[in-house]
Amino acid sequence: MTSPDCIVIGGGAIGLLSAHFLVERGMRVLLLEKGELARESSWAGGGIVSPMYPWRYSDAVNQLASYGQQHYPVFLGGLREETGIDPELLPSGMLMLDEAEPEMWAWAEKWHARIEPLTSRDALDAVQPGLDPRFTSGLWMPDIHQVRNPRLAKALAARARHTQQIEIREQSPVAEIMLAGDKVEAVRLEEGEILSADCVLVTAGAWTGRLMPDACPAPAEIQPVKGQIVQFKAEPGLLTRMVMLNSRYLIPRKDGLILIGSTLEFEDFDKQTTTSALEDLQAAAIALLPALADKPVVNQWAGLRPGTKEGIPYIGECAGVEGLFVNAGQFRNGIVMGLGSALLAAQMITGEAPFLDPFPYKPT
Ligand SMILES: Cc1cc2nc3c(=O)[nH]c(=O)nc-3n(C[C@H](O)[C@H](O)[C@H](O)COP(=O)(O)OP(=O)(O)OC[C@H]3O[C@@H](n4cnc5c(N)ncnc54)[C@H](O)[C@@H]3O)c2cc1C
Repeated sequence: MTSPDCIVIGGGAIGLLSAHFLVERGMRVLLLEKGELARESSWAGGGIVSPMYPWRYSDAVNQLASYGQQHYPVFLGGLREETGIDPELLPSGMLMLDEAEPEMWAWAEKWHARIEPLTSRDALDAVQPGLDPRFTSGLWMPDIHQVRNPRLAKALAARARHTQQIEIREQSPVAEIMLAGDKVEAVRLEEGEILSADCVLVTAGAWTGRLMPDACPAPAEIQPVKGQIVQFKAEPGLLTRMVMLNSRYLIPRKDGLILIGSTLEFEDFDKQTTTSALEDLQAAAIALLPALADKPVVNQWAGLRPGTKEGIPYIGECAGVEGLFVNAGQFRNGIVMGLGSALLAAQMITGEAPFLDPFPYKPT
């Protein structure tokens, strides 16, 4: 590729989706990834297409989440057609076993979300049989979908590899974003190569803070927050709904695998899995669905979420640095918010009217 219109740093879901929307707007993109495409947080997540307890989040988060919920079905259908990889967007619904929270009803009305109280064990069983006998009521959110992260990641990466206007360079860690006065000028790779650029978009997830120059300090707030997930092997049909209690959730995949997630650990860039998390998550899973006591654990992994205080991502141009854009900090909700975040970033870069007010996401 002759010189690209924009360099995107970081090939997770946010970088891949952003590159897609930039190309749709006529740009040529160079995507730099320190390792392999989409093998970090975007691979490791649970894939719930909703924030957990969304009423606890600001409108800024809910707006981007709502965009994803509305547009993923068509977007992912197209992605499946194009790549032959099915990201398994499933309408599993979410059965919440926590007590109702007063704010949830106003939230549901505002965002047109269905929350149905289940007030008897029979009603619970009709939605999801086999839960622990101590549960006799719940809150059913039938509209919540899930997506299967590794498949989504693979499909996004496959499409990017087949897009002529995207040049991908893996194993290419960026060491520095170089400025000339108040403009972005180039990026320097760790191995020394310098690539000039008038437009740089940072989508480096949990690592974003490490890359931002002093002139753009706000996104340096982004810090890694480790999340561990444990996976059971069961027969398809044992669990068909997502189930949540006390910030722990079960997610049934189509082939019978069941995930229990996730921990929330503030431990710098450490991605080790731990025995204590395994025991804790396994116990939480069995306490929800006792049949899991007889099912083998077949996998455990960890990912680093791009953590921000309120989960509101930074999207847009850095104040005072022309040409330097960021799209990072989606924290626990980077899949559900990813589609809207990427569209907004591409609109900000190309000067198109944004589909929502970008003010809450300004990287200042
Ligand atoms: C356990 C867990 C459960 C989750 N569950 C959900 C959920 O149910 N629903 C939901 O919506 N979200 C969920 N999330 C959050 C979601 O996965 C993240 O918010 C999202 O994946 C962030 O995407 P990203 O592209 O910004 O980050 P990443 O996927 O981490 O991608 C960032 C990329 O940048 C690259 N990079 C970093 N530094 C450099 C550099 N210097 N040079 C070049 N490349 C670089 C990295 O290698 C990486 O590939 C979960 C996350 C975890 C860990």
